Amino acid sequence: MAPVLIGYFLLFLFCVNKIVECLYKESEQYVVDLNTKKEGLLKKKHHLIEQKRIVENESKEIFTLFEITKDITKSFNEKDAFEIFKVKLAEHVKFDKCELLDPLVENIKELRKVKEYFVFTLQGKKRKIGYISVLGLPELDKEKFMIMAHQFALALRRVKLHQEVEQTAITDGLTEMYTRGYTFSRFEEEFSRAKSKKISLSFLMVDVDHFKILNDQYGHLTGDKILRKIAKIIKENIREIDIGGRYGGEEFCVILPDTDNKGARYAAERIRKAAEETQIRAYDAVVNITVSIGVATYPKNGSSVTEIVDKADWALYRAKKRGRNKICVFGVYDE
Ligand code: GH3
Ligand code: MG
Ligand code: MG
Repeated sequence: MAPVLIGYFLLFLFCVNKIVECLYKESEQYVVDLNTKKEGLLKKKHHLIEQKRIVENESKEIFTLFEITKDITKSFNEKDAFEIFKVKLAEHVKFDKCELLDPLVENIKELRKVKEYFVFTLQGKKRKIGYISVLGLPELDKEKFMIMAHQFALALRRVKLHQEVEQTAITDGLTEMYTRGYTFSRFEEEFSRAKSKKISLSFLMVDVDHFKILNDQYGHLTGDKILRKIAKIIKENIREIDIGGRYGGEEFCVILPDTDNKGARYAAERIRKAAEETQIRAYDAVVNITVSIGVATYPKNGSSVTEIVDKADWALYRAKKRGRNKICVFGVYDE
């Protein structure tokens, strides 16, 4: 009996041992699996940390770019905008010298050949609107510079657009001369300047002779063409500092800063003569035109803008009465 019991007992021990062995193997596998999982999770964690760092860097760059763009676009003047850009650039990029170049400058090709210079083209919607030349830019900073320069190009486009809109608001659509409103605001400014500096200022009132007849004879389209041509003649015969505007209809006016009535007479004569000598080709007609001009001068003829305009009007009236194609200076009757 006893050997049988011992046999059973041994069998029992054998079974227990096998079960323990199995359990041990399973738990070992379990630990291995857990370790593999842990490694996977650690890898994921590192990957996420790296991603977070990239996203943080990117958002930092976007924010910096936003800040830069915001600052550059504060200005509606290209020089100021560029100064702001340069300050911002210096905060992020190393360089020795940075300049804004006009698209019309000829040395761009030459400059591109000099390897110390890096030239960035500022592209507008349809054409090049400028260049940035930068000296001593490290290769490493090139990409950063280009991103910022691109932002400046956008700002410059905005500045140019603003200038165009402003120009349209102050320019007469038909003749491309200044509008009456803008001309008179400039007149007030020049008047104050003349008063404070105690210098002369003259005003010309230019009127096309018998324009109504020209209109009736050749039609309004030809009439418009004549007005454009007269505006061109006036612009070509005044100085850079003079201000020429369309007073209304077929009347133009010119403000001549720092000019007495003698100087104003010369200027008026240049315009009168040029008009007389011009043959205007309008569609199938060739038209000859003349103008009459009234001249008045501050301080000789008045002490306010209105007074000077009135006096020039009076002088113009006299020029018309004296037969047209004439110049009359207010208060001078010896012609
Ligand atoms: P005067 O020598 O006395 O100045 O005679 P005028 O015929 O030039 O003067 P008037 O003031 O009688 O006529 C001006 C004409 O100018 C009348 C108007 O129809 C014409 N006019 C005004 N503005 C325009 C315009 O924008 N286009 C055209 N085609 N005609 C215009
Ligand atoms: Mg008139
Ligand atoms: Mg007229």
